[in-house]
Amino acid sequence: MTQGRTAIVVGAGAGGLATAVDLAVANWDVTVIEASSHAGGKMRQVNDGQNAIDAGPTVFTMRWVFEQLFANANGSFDTALEAVPAQILARHGWSDGSQLDLYTDHTASRAAIAAFASEADASGFDSFCQRAESNYRVLRDSFMAAQQPSMLSLPGRVGLRQLPDLIATRPDTTLWRALDRYFSDPRLKQLFGRYATYVGSSPMLCPATLMLIAHVEQEGVWQLPGGMQSLADAMVSLGRRCNVDYRFDTQVTSIDTQSGSISGVTLNTSEQLKADVVVFAGDCNAVAEGLLGESIKASVKPRQVTQRGLSAVTWCLTTETEGFDLEYHNVFFDENYPSEFDAIFTEQSITQRPTVYVCAQDRVDGHKPTGPERLLILINAPAIGDTATPSDFDHSALWQAATAVMARSGCRVTASEMPAVVTDPIGFHALFPGSAGSLYGGSSHGMLASFTRASARTKQRGLYLAGGTVHPGPGVPMATLSGRLAAEAIIQDYAGK
Ligand SMILES: Cc1cc2nc3c(=O)[nH]c(=O)nc-3n(C[C@H](O)[C@H](O)[C@H](O)COP(=O)(O)OP(=O)(O)OC[C@H]3O[C@@H](n4cnc5c(N)ncnc54)[C@H](O)[C@@H]3O)c2cc1C
Repeated sequence: MTQGRTAIVVGAGAGGLATAVDLAVANWDVTVIEASSHAGGKMRQVNDGQNAIDAGPTVFTMRWVFEQLFANANGSFDTALEAVPAQILARHGWSDGSQLDLYTDHTASRAAIAAFASEADASGFDSFCQRAESNYRVLRDSFMAAQQPSMLSLPGRVGLRQLPDLIATRPDTTLWRALDRYFSDPRLKQLFGRYATYVGSSPMLCPATLMLIAHVEQEGVWQLPGGMQSLADAMVSLGRRCNVDYRFDTQVTSIDTQSGSISGVTLNTSEQLKADVVVFAGDCNAVAEGLLGESIKASVKPRQVTQRGLSAVTWCLTTETEGFDLEYHNVFFDENYPSEFDAIFTEQSITQRPTVYVCAQDRVDGHKPTGPERLLILINAPAIGDTATPSDFDHSALWQAATAVMARSGCRVTASEMPAVVTDPIGFHALFPGSAGSLYGGSSHGMLASFTRASARTKQRGLYLAGGTVHPGPGVPMATLSGRLAAEAIIQDYAGK
């Protein structure tokens, strides 16, 4: 019997929200403590003085993760949230004026690639998609939706029949090198290499295995008319129906132990709350840095500077654009893609010609706004938010650089002034303590990175971890899976106690 067991979840990001729901369903008494005034964590909105604008994740994938979470709590994702399937995955523009749309429909993407590049590249796309799907199939249940395996235990989990597919994921080569097998047009290599950035990584350094992210997108991308905040709100409503208690604007200043076990938490109000288990669902490096107290510091390995994933500089604004018919998701590329990642991961700086992502969030289901519209504009940046000074991120110069890349693809932002709402790695570090501004925790560089992430269980009895910085990794659905894995571990560990 678990009745009467109490859990405190620190952090109301995707991972923490999912843990809370699953534990409450299993009859745990759950309280979520969140420093900010809203649930969602990185799924946050900012106000530019005119509108609320999504300032975090915008690409919503792996819907099945949320359907399962809601179904397990006797809820229905379909009725809780409006999610519109995207026909166009993203519109890509290059500085030579060329454009390419990718579609959910494989045949449409194939035809677009044949027209954009060549029939050989279209055939390469077919093979690439088969490989990406195979990588996803072999790793979905054995790795992504399961407690963290070791590199040695993964083949056993996968089983003999799928072992050849596991080997074919090619963790021993980089995504960038692997793409040569499929595409001769450098623009396509750029486009498909960019999927590495979804997990905060460089395509030149992450394993080819990660081409599975392309398949995740092809399985479906949904647009949320209420923004990603509406997903967080729906997860909170689900939790409330299961009796989860949420406390916002409250910071946990320490996670406390007594006689070697977790005893509860202390809040910034000096109040102490008792609990049988605590789930830390912020950036797990905060624990390693001692930000949650000395007694639990050794439970998590610190993240080395060289292991940090990407940060970003983001701008949120309401404006008109001209010269380029924006889609919901848009990517503007310049030349020399490798130099962008060299700058970030070697020199810890931002190239003069960064790749620019633009989310035109009013363009749900192909809608075309007639006046000013809400935009999130993002460029990659090094995660140095803990040591950088404001002069390391000259917002005005970076804005000029980003809008110049867009303009070379034909897209001109008409706003004459730099948007007021800018978040740089220093800002992300302040919002997400312990992160140094990394949006994704550790990078996925090298063969071993995916196996060295922290897992739900820690060395400290009663302390568990959830969120995008622990197994199975970053992204809203993956963080949600991590939250579910933390709940699963707790339920198993306390069964019959
Ligand atoms: C700009 C940007 C773009 C992104 N794009 C995408 C995308 O398109 N698609 C996608 O799937 N993912 C994307 N991501 C990544 C994705 O947002 C994250 O991987 C995911 O949301 C992380 O969830 P989490 O569970 O780790 O919690 P987080 O979102 O990191 O939230 C943790 C919460 O814990 C709280 N907290 C921390 N410490 C304490 C404490 N001591 N006391 C109380 N509360 C505390 C914080 O306030 C925060 O609310 C993006 C992220 C960013 C920032």
